[in-house]
Amino acid sequence: MTGRVYIVGAGPGDPELLTIKAFRILHSADVVIYDRLVGKDILACVKPSALLLYAGKEDGHHSLSQNSINKLLLSYARKGYTVVRLKGGDPFVFGRGGEEAMFLASRGIPFEVVPGITSAVGVPIYAGIPLTYRGVSSSFAVVTGREAEFKKESAIDFGSLSGIDTVVFLMAVSSRRKIAERLIQAGRPPGEPVAFIEEGTTDAQRVVLSTLEEVATTPPEVRPPAVFVVGKVVMFRERLKWFEKRVHTGQESFHEGIGYIMEQP
Ligand code: SAH
Repeated sequence: MTGRVYIVGAGPGDPELLTIKAFRILHSADVVIYDRLVGKDILACVKPSALLLYAGKEDGHHSLSQNSINKLLLSYARKGYTVVRLKGGDPFVFGRGGEEAMFLASRGIPFEVVPGITSAVGVPIYAGIPLTYRGVSSSFAVVTGREAEFKKESAIDFGSLSGIDTVVFLMAVSSRRKIAERLIQAGRPPGEPVAFIEEGTTDAQRVVLSTLEEVATTPPEVRPPAVFVVGKVVMFRERLKWFEKRVHTGQESFHEGIGYIMEQP
């Protein structure tokens, strides 16, 4: 009998942001094919007998080609295994989850998709930046900064982005300067505040504040993975940063939390 493929979002990094459904399915998986941005704590949820396969994927550079990932999904599912395709953030926000689902659909492989907290939303929250705020921001957009997309003149409509209050760019570290230039050309104020959040929701989280003008002229040092947020809401960070001030109670251990869930009847 054909197995089933679960395309699962792992959230942005903090293992406690995994959904209960994602956790349950991971725990039942025979094979887990995971991306680079999935943390070790999360991989520790799989049962000891499960096969863990690393698919790579680094801002467009893959250690396994999309074609070989698809083939793996197909062959393990056809052997009757429960296969998890584990992706950072939400599986249908970039990262080609939709394409993998299309592939499975075309081959008649049963699949399910488990949403995850996307870094586009979760990471700004851990930096104290609300994407919307009454009277300040009533819209947000999530946009790829991938260099390849960027080169196609038509790929990103910067003109229409000037009408959106908050714009979140993913995969945008290397193109940050060009993005800032284009946003200014499209009419956004040069003094508009921006934030880069590196390795958001993890202990290594680092936030760099700047302005569009500065990014367009002397861009600050930023290392991927980072979320690039543009908009007035960035100013809330000063008052709302909470992650850096959190209190370690000793109660927040992921594995203790999981132990608790598992013990419930
Ligand atoms: N499906 C993912 C996005 C895949 S694209 C999601 O929904 O989050 C990969 C990009 O996500 C990275 O280039 C970076 O911009 C962003 N990203 C993912 N995890 C991140 C993290 N912990 N901190 C900062 N950015 C992150």
